[in-house]
Amino acid sequence: MIYFDNSATTFPTERVRAACSAAMTDELSGNPGSLHKLGVAADSAYNECLNNTAKLLGAKPQEIVFTSCATESANTAIRGFMSRNKRAGNTVVSTRTEHKATLECLANLEKNGYNVVYLPVGSDGKPDLGALEDTLAAGDCALMCFTLVNNETGSILPNEEILKIKNRVSPSTFFYLDAVQALGKIRIDLHKLGCDMCSFSGHKIHGIKGVGVLYVREGVRIDPFILGGGQQRGMRSGTQSLVLARSFETALEEASEGVEDAYDIVASINAYLRKELAARKAIILSPDDALPYVLNVSFDGFESETMLHCLEIYDIFVSTVSACSSKAKKVSYVLLESGVPQKIAANAVRISFSRYNTMAEAEEFIRCVDEIYDKFAVRK
Ligand code: PLP
Repeated sequence: MIYFDNSATTFPTERVRAACSAAMTDELSGNPGSLHKLGVAADSAYNECLNNTAKLLGAKPQEIVFTSCATESANTAIRGFMSRNKRAGNTVVSTRTEHKATLECLANLEKNGYNVVYLPVGSDGKPDLGALEDTLAAGDCALMCFTLVNNETGSILPNEEILKIKNRVSPSTFFYLDAVQALGKIRIDLHKLGCDMCSFSGHKIHGIKGVGVLYVREGVRIDPFILGGGQQRGMRSGTQSLVLARSFETALEEASEGVEDAYDIVASINAYLRKELAARKAIILSPDDALPYVLNVSFDGFESETMLHCLEIYDIFVSTVSACSSKAKKVSYVLLESGVPQKIAANAVRISFSRYNTMAEAEEFIRCVDEIYDKFAVRK
């Protein structure tokens, strides 16, 4: 099997599996809220996960909330912030190339009377910074919502330039950042990133599904999304899961080792595929300066889904649009918003890597693409 669909999800590593099973013994299966010694043991192990996760992200433990996924983190951050900070302004600024987890929250805000400004994006996937400055200068902008690495193209946000503009033009505007596709691929230090809220997902970094993280900078007030027993400082009620927290912590710890070496391996795989695919008349849709972990390519003569299933015959797995939209059989809105013509976008396939992919897999991928063209392409 060649798994090139790592932006959709990744597989848990051996280290994550072992850490999860070690967290599932009877001795550690008490409720962290219980007063007896089983509760104390679970609470202490859970706090160890929390402290280590915070440290690895460059945050304080009180700034970290474990959630069920990044979608929950986004909902809590965006909707919780706007609900709590009604006097901060009525406008939110973002783009139409965000993940649905953000876009649906923005649509919900619009339904509730907020003004959402969607900045145009260029063919490089980056938001128009002049339009950002104008929007911020108009005042009334409570929140900006952006994604550090786009999940469909790998386009990288000009985070530092955005922060400079915000701090110069509208320092009171808050900043929500989706860093789901950046984690484990580039070094993340939350206090240096300069955002006020940030979301992450365990299953994108070889953790298990069912756990995400929300960072809320100390001093930023948001309304919690899930109400109940007041766990996690009232930010997210519900009995804490040591197993899920441990899986995130372990995956993050592993992903934080050798980030630069992993990047170099993936960059060389990406460069090889770009060259070989372009030589076969495929159109490379990821910007030149995209994160190498994502490569979006339009194959001549094959609709996205047809190519996906042709590759599947060879036990090679890729995506059409992002996994959560792919069942709807849509052409990627991210590509269309970035100015890719419909006909080219309709043939787009997302190839996405993890640090565990190899050059041998990339070579085999090309061999299979050649065979697919020989066997299945309709001769013109
Ligand atoms: N944000 C981005 C950029 C993503 O790629 C994804 C998942 O595809 C999400 C948010 C949502 O993550 P989760 O599946 O943890 O809800």
